[in-house]
Amino acid sequence: MAVSIPASWMPDADMRRIHVHWTAGRHKANPVDLKSYHVLVEGDGKLRRGNCPISANDPARRKSGEPRANHTLNANSHAIGVSMCGMFNARERPFDPGPAPLTEAQWAAMTQAVAILAQRYGVPVTNETILTHAEVQPNLSIAQRNKWDITALPFDPGTLGAQAVGDRMRREIAAALDALGADRGPPPDRMKPPRFRVSGVKPSTLNFRDGPDGEVVGALPEGTRVERLGISGGWWQVRTPAGHVGWVWHGFLRAI
Ligand SMILES: [Zn+2]
Repeated sequence: MAVSIPASWMPDADMRRIHVHWTAGRHKANPVDLKSYHVLVEGDGKLRRGNCPISANDPARRKSGEPRANHTLNANSHAIGVSMCGMFNARERPFDPGPAPLTEAQWAAMTQAVAILAQRYGVPVTNETILTHAEVQPNLSIAQRNKWDITALPFDPGTLGAQAVGDRMRREIAAALDALGADRGPPPDRMKPPRFRVSGVKPSTLNFRDGPDGEVVGALPEGTRVERLGISGGWWQVRTPAGHVGWVWHGFLRAI
């Protein structure tokens, strides 16, 4: 199914992240859903525009008194809220998706819609910039109240947990962007990966590993500058100045 988003839904704004949710409602968007998110994806894959324009979540463009879409606790500025309608009365453990489970058609439409939004606003596909609500707390270190959208997919029981679901989502969004022929070029300056310096390991060095808590494959001396590409618990994926990508313990990195 080819998804498109009218240009009028995507006004100029400085948007830096896209958060993907489910509504915990039925397969059709209700008035609360329309108030809470910018773009809704109904059970059959149909898109609905939320009441708040995307630009209302850009503090510099929000008109006085204009409501914004409050989709994520303490993380709404510069963030687009996309939500799949469903998961009413769902239960996390043991997993029970309830009477309005997310559908595969809905998921596919969501990944295409997010790709269009990412292209429009220049949001790169990383786990800190395009993420599910369940990833906001681990990936952005912004506490949420036990939000588990999306840690399980009713149509794919093999993909379980916030990171696995988020990774699957980003793979499919990246593929959708490729299909759009998007010029994914270098990200704008504000989107460059955050940079850090190795600090506090002298006279030893920082172990550089092939995965979170993985095999040691190298050593980074004090003062080495790295870019952070990803996070898994306390382990950070980093890129060294020579372009090597590996994992290190975050406690020895200081922001530059
Ligand atoms: Zn949510």
